[in-house]
Amino acid sequence: MEKKVILSGMRPTGRLHVGHYVGALENWIALQNDYRNYHLIADYHVLTTNLDTSSIYQDSLEMLIDWLAAGLDPEKSPMFRQSQVKEHCELQLIFSMLITVNRLERNPTLKDQIRDLEIENLVYGHLGYPVLQSADILLYKGQVVPVGEDQVPHIEITRELARRFNHTYGQVFPEPEPLLTKTPRLIGLDGNAKMSKSLGNTIFLSDTKEEIKLKLRKAVTDTQKLRKGDPGRPEVCVVFSYHQKFNPDEVLEISRDCSTGKLGCVDCKLKCTGKIDSFLKPIYEKRKELETNNALLIEILNDGETKARGIAGDTMAQVRDAMKIG
Ligand code: ATP
Ligand code: MG
Repeated sequence: MEKKVILSGMRPTGRLHVGHYVGALENWIALQNDYRNYHLIADYHVLTTNLDTSSIYQDSLEMLIDWLAAGLDPEKSPMFRQSQVKEHCELQLIFSMLITVNRLERNPTLKDQIRDLEIENLVYGHLGYPVLQSADILLYKGQVVPVGEDQVPHIEITRELARRFNHTYGQVFPEPEPLLTKTPRLIGLDGNAKMSKSLGNTIFLSDTKEEIKLKLRKAVTDTQKLRKGDPGRPEVCVVFSYHQKFNPDEVLEISRDCSTGKLGCVDCKLKCTGKIDSFLKPIYEKRKELETNNALLIEILNDGETKARGIAGDTMAQVRDAMKIG
């Protein structure tokens, strides 16, 4: 049977954090043998919240390093920049005619961003974020989109646009499905519902043990547990949620010892530091190798971009054909 197509991307807003990994990247890597994967560096999407483009190229390379260091294989999973494949803009324009402003304003992910980033005047392109994302996915006829929970409303919009296009002009696109990991939303160090770079509550894939230790020291725990000996409530503790992901073998014991007061927050955080560090260490080592190999990174992008342009060009030819503007 033919392998299904995966398309998923991330915005190059700097180094990746563990939320990106556990919400999406982990699945990309795990699935790259069983699917045909394509991974997009969504550099145009960065402009929705940041007009300063001076570090976009470097940030794109940093993100590529993180992807590769975590285990994405460029032979199996072509990686490319959105800005280098013109068809993304072309299909985005057509899709923008097939969706109402009202529908885009109802997008809950947009509402969260407006709140978190304190946006007072929304730009047109930000409202259209999921329209460009739909073009990103459907140009490659993505069927499966491994993403974190915050992206699910965008995949719903992608499905609607695929249906609308197919209904209006004829069958071209599949209706993609989101695919979540077991941790679809990692909580931030400060207790915020989402670990996010813009909220400054992250552990980066590139953090050293010392940096992780300092960050965890300040992490929010059960605010009712004031000193060692007080019984704690693991279910409301950020650090416990990290143990669940990075230290599954000890979760029962930690939960019990926190609840009885036997385990204090300081020791619990040190245990967690050790686990996250051993998890990130191999990524860290690989990262160091890649950081000095710019030529390899550029080659990987050139190769990915050539492949992406071929597929995107074919799909756009089908789109124009269906619309009789070929
Ligand atoms: P940041 O706010 O840190 O810049 P982002 O949400 O802008 O992150 P995107 O490029 O939009 O980053 O997302 C990349 C992928 O990582 C998406 O699939 C998103 O759902 C996922 N993701 C981001 N943060 C988390 C998190 N805290 N938990 C789970 N998944 C996450
Ligand atoms: Mg980001």
